[in-house]
Amino acid sequence: MLDNNNDINEYLGLERKDTITDDEAACATAMIWALRSKDPSTQVGACIYKDGVLLSLGYNRPPRGWSDSAFFWGKPDNPLYGKYPYIIHAEHSAISNYRGYKHDLDGATMLVTLFPCEQCAQDIAEAGIKKLIYINTRGPIEDTPAMMLLNNAGIEVVSLKDVASVTLQSLYLSTTPTTTGAVRSKRRLYNGNTI
Ligand SMILES: [Zn+2]
Repeated sequence: MLDNNNDINEYLGLERKDTITDDEAACATAMIWALRSKDPSTQVGACIYKDGVLLSLGYNRPPRGWSDSAFFWGKPDNPLYGKYPYIIHAEHSAISNYRGYKHDLDGATMLVTLFPCEQCAQDIAEAGIKKLIYINTRGPIEDTPAMMLLNNAGIEVVSLKDVASVTLQSLYLSTTPTTTGAVRSKRRLYNGNTI
């Protein structure tokens, strides 16, 4: 006998069962946010969420107030005029641009399209984020300072492979933006300087 909505939904197949999970949705969201980056060589997206609610998003970008078009996107020999000292990483951006109360981030999950650097690992730990899911890495992560920090800070670190279906894994891993050699090979001299 069908005496409650659960039974009725099950019997009639009314409820969709093949929806994506929170983690899978965060993967897609972070990937889309990465596409906003104007960085010619590396595009990274980060998504913070908790209890099924999206809290914040970030991508690698110039500091607020410094326009994309006037930013130093190159990697010249003089670092003063290159991107590295200035660019805000996706994780940092997602945390610092959260518009609610900081304690909302306690116990949240962050999904990143690229495994974080050690400075972002510091930010993640200090924000109270307790789970990190990454899609890509630049190489082995086990012996990196970032992993050492995350492990000692009690942050659960998992790969996309641990949380997404095989179908979505193949989709995400084949389309996630990451560093390409193509741009690097295009570095050239401009007014006598390598850019
Ligand atoms: Zn970073």
